[in-house]
This record gives sequence, structure tokens and C-alpha cells, in this order.
Amino acid sequence: MPNFSVPDSVFEQAASAYPTPFYLYDETGIRQRARKVQKAFAWNEGFKEYFAVKALPNPSILKILIEEGCGLDCSSETELLIAEKIGCRGSDIMFSANAMPPEEFTLALQMGAIINLDDISDIDTLKNNGGIPEKISIRLNPGGSIDEDATIMGEPKEAKFGWMPSQLKVGLSKLKSLGVKRFGLHAMLASNTRLGDYYPKLCRFLLKEGLKWEEETGLSFEFINLSGGIGIPYRPNERALNILDVGAMVRNEYKKVLGKRNNIRIYSEMGRYMTGPFGFLVTCAMHLKETYKTFLGVDACAANLMRPAIYGSYHHITVCGKRNAPADTLYDVTGALCENNDKFAINRMLPKVDMGDILVIHDAGAHGHAMGYQYNGRLRSAEVLYTKEGDYRLIRRAEMPEDYFATLVF
Ligand SMILES: *Cc1c(COP(=O)(O)O)cnc(C)c1O
Repeated sequence: MPNFSVPDSVFEQAASAYPTPFYLYDETGIRQRARKVQKAFAWNEGFKEYFAVKALPNPSILKILIEEGCGLDCSSETELLIAEKIGCRGSDIMFSANAMPPEEFTLALQMGAIINLDDISDIDTLKNNGGIPEKISIRLNPGGSIDEDATIMGEPKEAKFGWMPSQLKVGLSKLKSLGVKRFGLHAMLASNTRLGDYYPKLCRFLLKEGLKWEEETGLSFEFINLSGGIGIPYRPNERALNILDVGAMVRNEYKKVLGKRNNIRIYSEMGRYMTGPFGFLVTCAMHLKETYKTFLGVDACAANLMRPAIYGSYHHITVCGKRNAPADTLYDVTGALCENNDKFAINRMLPKVDMGDILVIHDAGAHGHAMGYQYNGRLRSAEVLYTKEGDYRLIRRAEMPEDYFATLVF
């Protein structure tokens, strides 16, 4: 089920200090999650979670994750610059862009990041934009399922990401001739999956490929990157994945494929799983409209959280102070965009809402604020950290019209 661990009083106190709408992040939850992931993979020497910056690119949150032993997975110049500003460098950064401006390689190399190549043509681009490092990562796309019973992700062929395994022979040999000595393999074949066998199967696939190409090329095989895609329960009837079990199952596959060999590091690049449950969009009931349906207007809109509008995603909603009241009223919960898909919930049973009530939209801590936009001149909200000491700290102010005007030429 969704994360209900933060009491209503926390949202109410925050809402009395900061104008709604805003995002609230629970530091304790994020730290506990990071520790659990470290524990799940502690058996693998050199394990590292490179948090996917795109999921929640706030420096205060990234610093917390770095303190907990994580690195950062960056995919653009701006994300690299955020990492640089908070002192994250070298192999604590994974750079995984695709189809990006070539100069971004130069910056990533200057920072010492591990470069994850998305295409064989990137070899020349890299050579001409900073040079070829000794260690390289290759992003793979298996084309078909990696899995006999096909329980995970349908059509990798349709995805824009990664090399075909058949390109590795030529590509790795070329990289070797240009000075590469060590390599790792990466793949991301799922999104928001709560299937416990996804990581183990991916581990098996990547290890087998790596061993094969190590043997063929003489390069040394150093790591696999299981990337992101691990899911969280958004709906009340959904079960959370047990990451400790996943870690144990990955260990099993690792031993089955490698036997006694234990010098291949495991990396991950989770975003959603790390912070998703620990972020909340806090908004206020502003408007009630009774026409063909009952529309409850709130002061947040899809510009603050676009997942329901673009993916039809479910986000659980609670009404502060009414958690135990019967959910006996049917609402569409809407924002103020002139866009009919601007609805946080459609046909949702909630306790009867009074104007001024604080509503909490759960599990918005990843791909939430980060996907925000400014359509209709609706601006991005503030972000507030609920600290482990129980204080509230503004970690990003709300945008103001001046921010919107800053890029315009009048
Ligand atoms: C988006 C992304 C992730 C994180 O995905 P989640 O679904 O948030 O875990 C990790 N790695 C890469 C390369 C990505 O593009």
C-alpha cells in the first residue's frame, strides 16, 4: 500500500508555515530506504546505488543520499552541474545520456564520471569529445525477452535505448584498441515493476554477456548495472517489493553464474524506489463544483504532478484530519489548468471534503516535482524537507512570475 507513515499533523504544520501547494519529503524515510538497499546488496563488495537524479533533482535530497553511500546517475549537462555543485565527482557519477549534445561527454569525462555508452556511434563521439577512458560502461538492449517465461517487459526492440548484443564484438574491440581496459554492462528493461525476479534475471543476463565478451576481447569485466525500474505500490491493494529478498535472489544468480568468482561489482540506478514513497504533494481544497459530476478543485495542478494526466497513474489521496472518516463521497479531484486531463483522481471515493481542507497526494517523491512544467503560466511549487529532527526546511522556493519572465524577451 502507499506510504502512510507520516501523520497528518506533519502536513498540517507544514501547511501553516508554507503556502500550498508544496512538496514535502520525509528525510527519515529516504535514509531508511537507502540503508535497506545497502543492506540488501551488502554481500557484494563494491555495490553502489547511483540514484537517478532525474527522479528528484533537489541538491538537499541528493546530499542525503550521498551521505548514505549513494552515487548519482546523471543524464544531462545540468544534472552533471548539480552533482559538481554538491561535490560529487569521479566514479561516484554514472553518466547515462542518449542522443545528447556531444560536448556533454567532455564535461562528464572532466568530472571523472563513468560513461555509459548508449550507442556504438558514441565511441567516435567520445573519442572526439574528451577522449576514451580506461573504464567504460555499455548499455545493452537484448531486443527480445531475457526471460523464458517472459514475465518482464514486452518489447525491448521498440525502445530507443542501448546496443544490440551483436554489436559488442566490434564495439568492444574498437574500444580496446583505443585504450579501454575494463568494462561493465548496463540494461534497463522495466519501469515501476514490483516483480521480485526482475533484478535476478537481469543480473543473470548481464553476467553471462559480460563473461562471454571478457573471454572474447581480453578486456576485464568489472561491473554490471541493474539500473532502475523497481516499482512501488501506488494503490492500497498493491504489495511492496521486499528488496532484501531481491538482494538474496540476485546473490543466488550471481553465484550460479560466477561460481567462486566474486570480483564483479553490482550497481543500481534506482529513482522511484529510493524516494517515491517519501514525497507528498500537499494541496488545499479550493472549489467545489456540482454539475454532471462532483469536481473538487485544489490549488495544485498537473503542472505540479503530471503523472495522472499523462499516464493515467493512480496516486492515493488522503484528507488531513479525516483519515478515519468514511470515504462516502465521489469526486473528480482537479487542478486549474485549461486542460481536461488535469485531474489527480477520477471517480475517487473520499471523506466529505470541506473547502480549506488539506489534501495529501501520496507517493509523489519521484518523477513528481521533477516533471513539473509551466503550462498556463502555472508555476512550479516549493519543496519542503521534513527533517529527521522533526523540523521543516525549505529546500526549493516556489517559482514566482519573475522566474517565468526571466527567459522572455519583451
Ligand atoms: C529513469 C532512469 C532510471 C531510474 O528509473 P526509476 O524508474 O525511477 O527507477 C535509472 N537509470 C536510467 C538510465 C534512467 O533513464
